[in-house]
Amino acid sequence: MGKDAKLLVIDAGTTSTRAMLFDAQGHCHGAHQRAIRQSYPADGWVEQDAAEIWASTLACAQAMVAQAGGAAHICAIGITNQRETVIFWDRNSGEPLAPAIVWQDRRTADACNALRDAGQEAAVQAKTGLLLDPYFSASKIGWALQNWPQLRAAGDRLAVGTVESFLLHRLTGGAHLSDASNASRTMLMDIYNMGWDAGLCALFDVPTSILPQIVDCHGPIGRSLPAWFGAPIAICGAAGDQQSATIGQGCIHPGDTKATYGTGAFILTSTGQAAPRSQHRLLTTILYAAGGQRHYALEGSVFVAGALIQWLRDSLHLLGNAAESEGLARSVADNGGVVCIPALSGLGAPHWRSDARAMLSGMSFATGRAHIIRAGLEAMAHQTQDLAAAFAGDGAPWQRLQIDGGMSANDWMAQDLADILALPVERPDFVETTALGAAMLAATGAGLYPDLPSATAAMQGERRRFVAQMDDATRTRRIDQWQRAMTRVLG
Ligand code: ADP
Repeated sequence: MGKDAKLLVIDAGTTSTRAMLFDAQGHCHGAHQRAIRQSYPADGWVEQDAAEIWASTLACAQAMVAQAGGAAHICAIGITNQRETVIFWDRNSGEPLAPAIVWQDRRTADACNALRDAGQEAAVQAKTGLLLDPYFSASKIGWALQNWPQLRAAGDRLAVGTVESFLLHRLTGGAHLSDASNASRTMLMDIYNMGWDAGLCALFDVPTSILPQIVDCHGPIGRSLPAWFGAPIAICGAAGDQQSATIGQGCIHPGDTKATYGTGAFILTSTGQAAPRSQHRLLTTILYAAGGQRHYALEGSVFVAGALIQWLRDSLHLLGNAAESEGLARSVADNGGVVCIPALSGLGAPHWRSDARAMLSGMSFATGRAHIIRAGLEAMAHQTQDLAAAFAGDGAPWQRLQIDGGMSANDWMAQDLADILALPVERPDFVETTALGAAMLAATGAGLYPDLPSATAAMQGERRRFVAQMDDATRTRRIDQWQRAMTRVLG
């Protein structure tokens, strides 16, 4: 293999699947993408076709292998994926036996509420680091086994796993594996030990025999069948999308924090090998595992980030496009007293109030659309600041914030984040951090670097820094204004 050999990254996301080529310095040399169809068969249900996920992934990966000049020019594959989504397949043929149930699916809300009412949440959180919610895989698997008779009928042939597990099975032609970061989101893994927990499997009625073997996030995970790319390629890295983005941002030392502002916002702080137990309703998750060691992160998600800008554009018609929000925010001296609490679909961490609803307050005849847009962008800094307090309370204070996601392109928002958090905010020039993280894992797993910290140091690109400039009085006034409005929403 020449020293210019490439890393092939597979990024199986929620709305699209992609393949990308990276070199060992972290530069991207190509990308191929295909949309993934979503289906909504009933209220709150979200499904995908696992056969389509595989066909699209294979087509994108084959396009990238061809661009690289063949499998001989690729030293390793890294996989990153939408988390928590579950797939059911035949372990002999690899063919899906049922629709994939997507992470957004709420069909098991009643089942989760019943478990919570029965007092199970503390015990579940103590083992998994997660809060009882349909979001995680366990209740979805339990539901499918009860309601789809073909799964029981498949007997020993039934294999279940998250998206990377299914892709690993198809790529290798039969291995049933799941990387530890993805496994930690199923609510069936004891994240403080490296295995499935018999008690949790019994609670959700999931036999352990149908689950994959949990493996490291970098190392010799498997080899692709020669048929797919003309020759076998080593699979050397795998991690869930948010963990991968955290690694791609180089946030692997304790206290390092990344925030992704897309439709919603996902914030993760690395806690190193210490496994925190949150007292502030944050999630504890495996950032990555390798060589018998587990590295953890605390995670908090905000339901509405860029979705607010979409709503202001598409429902209220206050914007022509998302990028216009930046100029409008700059066009006024301040928010004019307007505060926006974007609880359009309830509030996520640290409040966890699905019943909360949004509020736009403080308007007068002097209020124009620029004030409302500015208040909408300001809400991102305030939601993040509320989480900063929860992370600090759990012993993971932030020293700076690495941002990415579509909304991070907004310079005004990035500066406002720095001002309200009173911390430096950094944005990489190359914002595809999810794919870059998988490339870093694959490079480490292939032995191009001695360990993951060396890979992240070598493969990270340039970044732009936003430094806090706001005076204390203005900052305090803004935070007071936000907290008063939040009290009313929560009240
Ligand atoms: P996802 O991965 O969740 O689909 P993206 O990371 O692609 O989301 O980000 C898209 C979101 O970012 C959209 O909700 C859009 O409204 C918002 N967005 C994109 N550009 C800007 C901008 N310049 N200012 C504010 N919001 C933006």
